[in-house]
Amino acid sequence: MLINREELNRLGKFSELKIEKEGHLYRIAVIHEEDHCPYLEDGRCTNYELRPFDCRLYPVIIEETKETNGKIIAFYKFHRRCPQIKFFKSIFTKRDLEKIKEWFREAYPDKEIKLVYRRDGFIKRNFIRLKRIIASIFGRAY
Ligand code: SF4
Repeated sequence: MLINREELNRLGKFSELKIEKEGHLYRIAVIHEEDHCPYLEDGRCTNYELRPFDCRLYPVIIEETKETNGKIIAFYKFHRRCPQIKFFKSIFTKRDLEKIKEWFREAYPDKEIKLVYRRDGFIKRNFIRLKRIIASIFGRAY
């Protein structure tokens, strides 16, 4: 998850997780599978009204940001496990992209912001299917 300084200050519980600086923003990493957002309780967000921008974007994920030639390039994708992904993609517009750019402009007021859609590669998209095929060839059960 990518958050800005204001969100980091406001949402103090995030400091329980590993935080890495990513340019002018902060990346919150969940390292262990059992780790989860400290605001998540009984499957619900306890801070829903004040959740960070990145949570509001879901199922869009800002996977990585880079600074190149004075430009900020943010790579985004759709979380393929979201059950509403087809519907969401159908209503996602240029205006939504503009909102994402605006959020980045707050952190980088003097930089050009470029959003780049990152499609999962064939292997990543079909990872589970491939595992099953390999298991069936080599006789292992998954
Ligand atoms: S929506 Fe709430 S519980 Fe989920 S990651 Fe964001 S702050 Fe955490």
